[in-house]
Amino acid sequence: MDPFADTLQRLREAFDSGCTRPAEFRAAQLKGLSRFLQENKQLLQEALAQDLHKSAFESEVSEISISQNEINSALRNLRAWMKDEKVPTNLATQLDSAFIRKEPFGLVLVIAPWNYPLNLSLEPLVGALAAGNCVVLKPSEISKSTEKVLAEVLPRYLDQSCFAVVLGGPQETGQLLEHKFDYIFFTGSPRVGKIVMAAAAKHLTPVTLELGGKNPCYVDDNCDPQTVANRVAFFRYFNSGQTCVAPDYILCSPEMQARLLPTLQSATTRFYGEDPQSSPDLGHVISEKNFLRLRRLLSCGRVAIGGQSDESDRYIAPTVLVGVQETEPVMREEIFGPILPIMNVRSLDEAIEFIRRREKPLALYAFSNSSQVVKRVLAQTSSGGFCGNDGFMHMTVASLPFGGVGASGMGSYHGKLSFDTFSHPRACLLRRPGLEKVYALRYPPHTPRNLRV
Ligand code: NAD
Repeated sequence: MDPFADTLQRLREAFDSGCTRPAEFRAAQLKGLSRFLQENKQLLQEALAQDLHKSAFESEVSEISISQNEINSALRNLRAWMKDEKVPTNLATQLDSAFIRKEPFGLVLVIAPWNYPLNLSLEPLVGALAAGNCVVLKPSEISKSTEKVLAEVLPRYLDQSCFAVVLGGPQETGQLLEHKFDYIFFTGSPRVGKIVMAAAAKHLTPVTLELGGKNPCYVDDNCDPQTVANRVAFFRYFNSGQTCVAPDYILCSPEMQARLLPTLQSATTRFYGEDPQSSPDLGHVISEKNFLRLRRLLSCGRVAIGGQSDESDRYIAPTVLVGVQETEPVMREEIFGPILPIMNVRSLDEAIEFIRRREKPLALYAFSNSSQVVKRVLAQTSSGGFCGNDGFMHMTVASLPFGGVGASGMGSYHGKLSFDTFSHPRACLLRRPGLEKVYALRYPPHTPRNLRV
C-alpha cells in the first residue's frame, strides 16, 4: 500500500486543471501563508522553543519575520515576475514576437531540515506557490513540535487541492522520492543530498540542493579583535551553532589568536552571562544523537573557552578550541553546534591555500581593516556566498542569490530568484501565418541563390 499515491494524484489533477495559474489564485495562497504566520505566531514561537530552545528574538528574526518579508516581496512583485519577458529577435525572426514565459513546473516536492524548521519550509514554499506550482512539503521529523504545527495548522490556510504536508523520516522520504515530481527542492546535509539527487535522476527531475559544509572565517592581523569577536561569537552561537552558514572555524595567526581569546571570552559572557546554560538567549542542541557527536568534538585540540556539557539538557557551552589539527574530526566534519576551533596560519597566502584545498563552502568570511585583504580572499577563493567583516548578513539581502557551489549545493533562491527557480523559462516564438514567399527561401532544393540568404 503506497501511503502517498492518493495525495500526489489529487495534486496532479489540481495542477492539470490549471487552477494554480491565475495571479489571483497565487496571491490568495501567499496571503494564506501570511495569515498563518500572523495568527499562529505564539504557537510557532512555542514550538520553536520546544524544539530548539529558540528565544523569542531568534524565532522572530530568523524564522517568522524573514519568512514574512519573503511573502510580502512575492505579493508585491507577483504580477511583474509572472509577465512574459520580451527578448530581441534576429534577422530571420525580426517580424516575430520572441519571449520567455515563466511556466510552473507542476508538482514540486520541498524537503526541509530541522535547524530553521519554519523558515526553511516556508521560504521555498513562497517561491513554489508564487510560481503557480502544486506543492508537497516534507518537514523535518526531528523538529517535532514545528512539524506538528506545519502538518496540522498550515494546510488550513492554503488550498488543499494544491498543497499537502507529508510526514516521515528517512524511510518514508525514500518511499516518497520513488514518485515522479516535476521539481525537488531539498535543504539538508550533503549525504542526504546525494540520495535525493540519485532518486531525482531516475525521473530526470531537476533539483535544487541547499547543503552545508565547513565555512571558513579568516581573521587578518589588521583587525580590532573585540569587534571581530563580537561578530563571530554572535553568528557562531546563534541557534546554538546549528546554522548552515555559521562561521565553522577561524583561520588566523598565533598572534591574532592570543588577542582574540580574551575578547571572545568577554563577548560570550556579555551575551550569555556567567552561566550560559541558564541563558534564555542560547539555543540547545536538537537531539541526543547530535549532543553526543558534539561532545566527542570537545576532545579535539584544547578547550580555551567553555567546554562544559550537560546531557540531561542537551547543553553544550559556547566553546572555543585551540591547537586543533587539520586531521581531527572537528576540522573534518561540519560542526553544526556551538564549538569554534581556531586553526593557525602564518600568512594570508597560507589561509587562502587552506581554503582552496577543501570543498567549496556554503559561506566564507574575511575580517580585516584592509579592504585589499578582504578583496583578495574574495578573488582567490570560491563559495556559495561571501561576507566581508561580518557573519551571515549576506543571506538577509533578498536580491542576492542564496545557495551553495560544489559540495555545498546547487541552485539558489530568495526573492525573485525563488520565483525563477520554481519556473521553467519556456522559449516562445510567435510567427506570422503569412509571408510564405519569404520563408520559402529556406526550403530545398538549395540553389546557389538561396544559399546566399
Ligand atoms: P538531513 O540531510 O539529515 O535531513 C534533511 C531532510 O532530509 C529531513 O527532512 C529528513 O527527514 C530527510 N532525510 C534524512 N535522511 C534521509 C534519507 N536517507 N532519505 C531521504 N530523506 C532523508 O539534514 P538535517 O540534519 O535536517 O540538517 C542539517 C544539515 O542541513 C546540515 O548539513 C546543514 O548545513 C544543512 N542545511 C543547509 C541549509 C542551506 O540552506 N544550505 C540550511 C539548513 C541546513
